[in-house]
Amino acid sequence: MRLAKYSIGIGDRFGRQGKAQLAALIKAKARGVSIVPVWNKSHREHSTIGSAPGDVRADADAAVRACRWTDPYFVDADHIAMGNVDLFMASSDFFTLDVADFTGRAADEADITAFVQKHRGYVGSLAVPGIEETLEVSENQIRAIASRFLLAVKEAAKIYRHIEAAKGAENFVTEVSMDETDRPQTPVEMFFILAAIADYGIPAQTIAPKFSGRFNKGVDYDGDVARFAKEFAQDLAVIKLAVRQFHLPENLKLSVHSGSDKFSIYGSMREAMARFDAGLHLKTAGTTWLEEVVGLALAGGAGLAMAKEIYAKALARRDELAAPYATVIDIDEAALPSSQSVDRWDGRTFAAALKHDASCEAYNVHFRQLLHVAYKVAAEMGDRYLQALDENEAIIAQNVASNIYDRHIAAIFVGR
Ligand SMILES: [Zn+2]
Repeated sequence: MRLAKYSIGIGDRFGRQGKAQLAALIKAKARGVSIVPVWNKSHREHSTIGSAPGDVRADADAAVRACRWTDPYFVDADHIAMGNVDLFMASSDFFTLDVADFTGRAADEADITAFVQKHRGYVGSLAVPGIEETLEVSENQIRAIASRFLLAVKEAAKIYRHIEAAKGAENFVTEVSMDETDRPQTPVEMFFILAAIADYGIPAQTIAPKFSGRFNKGVDYDGDVARFAKEFAQDLAVIKLAVRQFHLPENLKLSVHSGSDKFSIYGSMREAMARFDAGLHLKTAGTTWLEEVVGLALAGGAGLAMAKEIYAKALARRDELAAPYATVIDIDEAALPSSQSVDRWDGRTFAAALKHDASCEAYNVHFRQLLHVAYKVAAEMGDRYLQALDENEAIIAQNVASNIYDRHIAAIFVGR
């Protein structure tokens, strides 16, 4: 299976917003831009909500039928490892192989030596079209990169072969992710990681590197925008060269994880993609669930009461809910409103505090982050929550679709 130039990872924690999310892609298509939807839900989300990988497949298939979506679509087994890949085997046709756990653990000396031998020809100056400065490559550097990454790529290859044996090579898309490592990869590292991916026979169609700066869940990028823009463009240049040098799949492209709401870097991403004629896979971060809460609040009455109840419970359980996300959220407790004051809010006030509109004075980034990790509270409400979603479907769908289209797709893929 071949992944198209543009794709977007859409999360849907409670499996009710597939149609609304597709509506955003249908709108993009009407404006001449085809974007392939990839439903993704991680093992962690499944454990929190009590859903199973097969549910995501069923939700995706149902939404596709209901919207008469005839283009390709995928279901991503996001950040899987050998220990849980089998749970996703039947329902997924996109697999994100997470190598972060093995990065930094040394490979066998024999593997390292063989890798250095094979790629010794690159020692010296490496000119990468699109990067101004030439990259200097030494044998020691190749050896250091091999020691740091080769075992991780070898592990990814093991998982890849396991999936290939079960499904057949033609029946799924492979992504390699390294975004959860401790520091960004340099262009030279990226080049030789791609060499290793090719050496081990992984037909990766997307690769998720780590960039500098913080990619917190559901909020804007926090870091040096110019530095990010440089890294992003360098990665595009290196991928382009590596595809030719190592005979990787021609459609290999970058995947940006936790890509929701990174408004301050979308412009430089779009500019670099145009410059390199590059594609992109943008994984959003499950913020569709926040649009459900926005919709409930705006609906007023019982919907607003439920939104307030979710916040009150989340506030009381903030330590427990934030713990699994500790490295990807920054909540200042002092900036969280008390549940008593939130109780006095009307629907518009609640929605304004939650909606990610930095130009709005009422927007509270801490309130938003707490609610982002509070989906467990809604999951525990069970049918009562799902029923509220059904009762307020129209207003929720409108918020879900406009969030994806106006804030994300228009900014990155279509252009304003
Ligand atoms: Zn990731």
